[in-house]
Amino acid sequence: MLHIKCPYCGIRSQKEFAYGGDATVKRPKLNSEVSDKEWDDFVYMRKSPRGKHTELWHHISGCRQWFKAQRDTTTHEIFETAKINEEIK
Ligand SMILES: [Zn+2]
Repeated sequence: MLHIKCPYCGIRSQKEFAYGGDATVKRPKLNSEVSDKEWDDFVYMRKSPRGKHTELWHHISGCRQWFKAQRDTTTHEIFETAKINEEIK
C-alpha cells in the first residue's frame, strides 16, 4: 500500500487522498488579454510525463488541505511533499 506524507498531518494511507492534477500548470495572468488557444491550453492540455513530476494532491479524508507532491509516475515513489505555497526542490 502506498503512503503519502501530508505536510500538515504526517504519513497517512493513500486511501485518504485524491489526485488533483498537474501542479506545474500556470493560469494566464488575471485581467490580461488571453487568446482562445492559450485558454484551451490552460484548461484542457496536459502532458503525460514519465518520471519525476510535481502534482497536486488533496487530503480529502483528513485535513482537507491541498498540497504538492513530487512523484515518479513510473514507480509511484513520492520524493517530497510541500504546502501549496512552498517550493518543491
Ligand atoms: Zn492532512
